[in-house]
Amino acid sequence: MTHPAQPKASHFINGEYVEDTAGTPIPVIYAATGEQIATVHAATPAIVEQALSTAKAAQTAWAKMTGTERGRILRRAADIMRERNHDLSVLETYDTGKPLQETLVADATSGADALEYFGGLAASLTGEHIPLGEDWVYTKREALGLCVGIGAWNYPTQIACWKGAPALACGNSMVFKPSETTPLCALKVAEILIEAGAPAGVFNVVQGMGEVGGALVTDPRVDKVSLTGSVPTGKKVYAAAAEGMKHVTMELGGKSPLIIFDDADIDNAVGGAINGNFYSSGQVCSNGTRVFVQKGIKEKFLARLAERTGNAILGDPMDEATSFGPMVTENQMNIVLGYIEKGKEEGARLICGGKRADMDGYFIEPTVFADVTDDMTIAREEIFGPVMSVLDFDTEEEVVARANDTEFGLSAGVFTKDFTRAHRVIGNLEAGSCFINSYNDAPVEAPFGGVKASGVGRENSKEAIKHFSQVKSVYVRMGDVEAAF
Ligand code: NAD
Repeated sequence: MTHPAQPKASHFINGEYVEDTAGTPIPVIYAATGEQIATVHAATPAIVEQALSTAKAAQTAWAKMTGTERGRILRRAADIMRERNHDLSVLETYDTGKPLQETLVADATSGADALEYFGGLAASLTGEHIPLGEDWVYTKREALGLCVGIGAWNYPTQIACWKGAPALACGNSMVFKPSETTPLCALKVAEILIEAGAPAGVFNVVQGMGEVGGALVTDPRVDKVSLTGSVPTGKKVYAAAAEGMKHVTMELGGKSPLIIFDDADIDNAVGGAINGNFYSSGQVCSNGTRVFVQKGIKEKFLARLAERTGNAILGDPMDEATSFGPMVTENQMNIVLGYIEKGKEEGARLICGGKRADMDGYFIEPTVFADVTDDMTIAREEIFGPVMSVLDFDTEEEVVARANDTEFGLSAGVFTKDFTRAHRVIGNLEAGSCFINSYNDAPVEAPFGGVKASGVGRENSKEAIKHFSQVKSVYVRMGDVEAAF
């Protein structure tokens, strides 16, 4: 019998499901059991062509609709997503292995938030009038054209919506390629947009590995590429986009600092560290994986952290009591286990976890290392799994310098009751998305994105509009033209 997660076909193009079984089969594995639940096929060149040409053709008429009309469609899609939240969350759990407890509140719901927010903004995208004596300049905010979105595997619904909603609000069309690891959810986003009234072709989904991504990025018809992925992929995609002088948004990896001062409320700080390391089993780009704890509270912090981490419930992700799921793939599990071994070898003190959980699926116990030093591999490289490194510090000046000593710059957090210090420290940290007495909140109203190697551009908020549109300036002369001859 076909598994309920199996989509009708691999791709969604021009308003319908499309299949081409000549493409490389991509198995979809449920991470909690290791069972294959679906198969999709990578896009063949013919599928890529179909996706790009129909998206290109659909864009002109879409851009000519009023913002109010486009916005209404996006907001209708948001309503449909909310109505179907339970089913979409189950699918997200099959796609990623994340527990239903999380997917019910963080995936289709945040996708719907993006559709609603950008749907609301669509009608407000206006230009300026700039008076110049009798003459004037007016500006128009115009769509970029055909955009490509490429997703990572950790938030397949959210990433499709965070890219698709602002792109469509501005009058662009989009061809979206989900991660080959989690190919299922974006198809539902495409289906729902059509149901909500989006013209066929404005949001197409094609499957495939990096090769398909590369074919999309280098196509001369494409005006913009928005990638969520790792830094090495980001460098390749950015370079390929530069060849064609395309716009880019790069949402890449991180190794973000979370700084906890002596005066912090310990339970809130522990809660922040848990949210910033163990949500989605640590597979979150903005995670605060370098937890700097001021020496005065170190042991108290570690004791409370170990106690609360012991309350994590590992188990069947479909059971809403489960609060901690598996790694997305066996391969990712092995990468993370390798880092845990490195932590042990390099002398970090294991506080809890530190091994694969004794159960089916790709579960790793939530792991905390203390006495981590800045040069250890686990403190330098993005692990993308449930491995928290706790480092000690003495002074504010010292911790800021150490926190900034990384190629990454996605997020940063600080816990302290001293608000002057909180703002000063955040002001001195090299990061794009920051938190004071909190960690990893990502409401659609707030800009999201990194500095340094962690990215270029911003998603969400009004900032995203700037990255999916361009300004045309028009000089209007009222009098005669003066010319030299
Ligand atoms: P990845 O870089 O391996 O793949 C990302 C996407 O790029 C996939 O869809 C992949 O098929 C595609 N791709 C790979 N090579 C390509 C190429 N040459 N041309 C075009 N496309 C190509 O990343 P991943 O393993 O799926 O995700 C984990 C990474 O993503 C982590 O580094 C994480 O920090 C990052 N991430 C960042 C954010 C953010 O918003 N900043 C969010 C989630 C994940």
